[in-house]
Amino acid sequence: MSTSQLAERAGAPGKVNLFFAAGPPRPDGYHDVASLYCAVSTGETVRATLTRGAGTTVGVAAVPGSLVAQQLDRGTFSLDTVPTDGSNLAVRAAEAVLARFPPLVGGLHLQIDKAVPVAGGMGGGSADAAAALAAVNRLAARVSGEPALDDDALLELAAGLGADVPFALTGGAAVGTGTGARLRPVAVGAPLHLVLVAAEAGLPTPAVYAELDRLRADEDVPPPRLPEGLVERLGAGTAEELAPLLANDLQSAALSLAPQLEPVLAAGADAGALASFVSGSGPTVAHLVADAAAAAALADVLRGQGAPALAVRAP
Ligand code: ATP
Repeated sequence: MSTSQLAERAGAPGKVNLFFAAGPPRPDGYHDVASLYCAVSTGETVRATLTRGAGTTVGVAAVPGSLVAQQLDRGTFSLDTVPTDGSNLAVRAAEAVLARFPPLVGGLHLQIDKAVPVAGGMGGGSADAAAALAAVNRLAARVSGEPALDDDALLELAAGLGADVPFALTGGAAVGTGTGARLRPVAVGAPLHLVLVAAEAGLPTPAVYAELDRLRADEDVPPPRLPEGLVERLGAGTAEELAPLLANDLQSAALSLAPQLEPVLAAGADAGALASFVSGSGPTVAHLVADAAAAAALADVLRGQGAPALAVRAP
């Protein structure tokens, strides 16, 4: 087999935070959080190919029909905004894996198929990193004949790349504590139905945290914790029972920086959504609805109004 045929592909989901509480800023600048992560049925794929060159190259394409493809169609986004150098989280993930194997003879190409909006609060870059960890791990093991890294080793590398990367590697639903990287998987009784609405411009996560700290400067911020009954309702309750417990500390900060999200949230209430919330640090908005038919109908209406919208299951 020629080296150009050696390739491995892996996928990783985007996420929403059904609940997100952030504590006060720590001395190291990070925030302790209490997060209920839930994977969504739209996500990223990374194909890692061994090349005859040297170093790591990156290609990026949009998944047809995805939020990213809709943003491209509307001219509100360009794939050029995704870094293709060593600052791409997928490249950092690949390098972290390769460092654990004998040196590669040849180079690496990472082809990223993007579905998750960039800087959208859905952990797109983290999903690219998780998919790259899995794909490059399998490729490096095949090429070297060494055993692949086990799940624990990959999770450790993931935590070193970013707070959301471990969850992108595991998927499903999980409570995240510490910076979000310490995970406890939780059960989901029945998949939730969401409509995701992407914004025209991304929101950098550090700016949203800075705005949160500014808005709460005079408050005595308590340590973050999940509300009583939240995990139980996700495991055994209905979407109607879950809806009142959903909350996101970052939402007020995201709205302060991007007030144009107010009508996007209000559109959900007008359409009968059970809850509407900003995903993570935003600006993607998620509307929780009762079933798949309601999600498809709401996504159609919102797309008709010109917004990139997608009906998804979670997880
Ligand atoms: P999170 O919710 O995890 O905080 P996000 O989903 O809001 O993140 P990302 O799309 O992960 O945001 O990326 C944020 C920034 O990271 C981008 O603006 C870009 O400069 C940089 N970046 C690095 N690697 C990637 C990648 N693979 N895909 C997209 N952006 C990346």
